Amino acid sequence: MKIEKNTAVTLRYQVADSQGRLLEESREPMVYLHGGYGNTFPKVEEALEGQVAGFLATLELQPEDAFGLRDENLVQTIPKTQFPPGVKVGGQLQGQDDTGHSQVFTVMKIKGDKVILDGNHPLAGKALRFSVTVTDVRSATPEEIEHRHVHGEQGHQH
Ligand code: ZN
Repeated sequence: MKIEKNTAVTLRYQVADSQGRLLEESREPMVYLHGGYGNTFPKVEEALEGQVAGFLATLELQPEDAFGLRDENLVQTIPKTQFPPGVKVGGQLQGQDDTGHSQVFTVMKIKGDKVILDGNHPLAGKALRFSVTVTDVRSATPEEIEHRHVHGEQGHQH
């Protein structure tokens, strides 16, 4: 079966940076609903369109095709007194941006009584090498299409 709109695609993937250093690897196969539902990067869907199980590819993704460019406005300096004790560089905390969306901030630096936080995705601004192997393709169910995501073992359970 070919990958086309409203198929459920199972794949394994590895994400490396542009020098080929491994950043992330799927432990379990990932399954997504294909067809522009925003479940994976558009460039990845583009490369997989029309392919079948067994297809493998390595895609070079520019930052704008992956996690976006860095936004320096998301770097904030907050007084250390506003944090619980034990705040550490590299720690992550959940906060809200100006529009009320929840966002994960990473502690970049602690400088005296100030903490510098970064609200960018850790992979923002990075070109990525995305290696993918398609292991299965099936038709999505009407319910999955209605929900805009896949159900079952590796999908949403509800
Ligand atoms: Zn659902």
